[in-house]
Amino acid sequence: MRRPQRECLHEALVAGHDLLARGAHAMEGVEAAIRLMEQSGLFNAGAGARRQLDGVARLDASIMEGGALTAGAVASLEGILHPITAARLVALETGHVLLVGPYATRFARHFKLKRLPQTGRLSRRKAELISALGLKNATLFRAMTRERVRLRERHGRETVGAVALDRAGTVAAGASTGGIDIMLPGRVGDTPLIGCGVYADNRAGAVSMTGWGESIVRIAAAKGIVAALADGRSPNMAARVILGAVERRVCGAAGALIVTPNGHMAIRHTTPHMSAGYWSGRGAPVVRDRFR
Ligand code: ASP
Repeated sequence: MRRPQRECLHEALVAGHDLLARGAHAMEGVEAAIRLMEQSGLFNAGAGARRQLDGVARLDASIMEGGALTAGAVASLEGILHPITAARLVALETGHVLLVGPYATRFARHFKLKRLPQTGRLSRRKAELISALGLKNATLFRAMTRERVRLRERHGRETVGAVALDRAGTVAAGASTGGIDIMLPGRVGDTPLIGCGVYADNRAGAVSMTGWGESIVRIAAAKGIVAALADGRSPNMAARVILGAVERRVCGAAGALIVTPNGHMAIRHTTPHMSAGYWSGRGAPVVRDRFR
């Protein structure tokens, strides 16, 4: 993790915790932390989001709280800096859970959410891949997989997420992403899918996922971890079981942030690293690259 990223995680932990210490709802703590990461441009979310193969950044986010099981999400949002706020507005201002595409964008603009300028050019390799869209699918997908592995090794920009426990004992989870490296226009991963990218239930805990979305969706990982918590497993064990399933059953890799209503937490991943941190308000926030 680069130093500015470390500092941003630190700042996000402090901002989220400060709100909770003043009695804010867990969802507000999660949103505040994620907004800082979205606006930093240092992660794969908001201002730093990856672009799809046509050069357009389409952003996904979701948020959920475990009291009334209120949840909101947006997928394929364009030109909005804070998708996490759009997701929270879906949860609080509509009776819906998920808005997509131009309609999600229009909804965010209606609430005057800050715009994100669409700038920058695609790398030559990405431009070549786009022209490969004319090739047979098998060739394209092989090229996409090779390129994705290469980019993963080179870049350190990760999806962002947060979980929180507030003073009233409510847990919440959120996540925000620009998706994976090399994806077809219109691709949506786990992040805006409740039960896949996030889940929260005051009877068990809150979970936010990162990693290869297609594998996370196929296991419905966030709900799987919450179900394991509800069965009495510890956060560490619940994560181990479900991340193990992601690895063994669908050859995927993922990471999870977990907090329970009684204040236990875990950060675990099967990806090579996962920049993350935690803070309970005592001492200094802990921020690391690896948690296993
Ligand atoms: N899970 C995200 C997605 O597949 C990407 C990530 O977490 O890095 O869209």
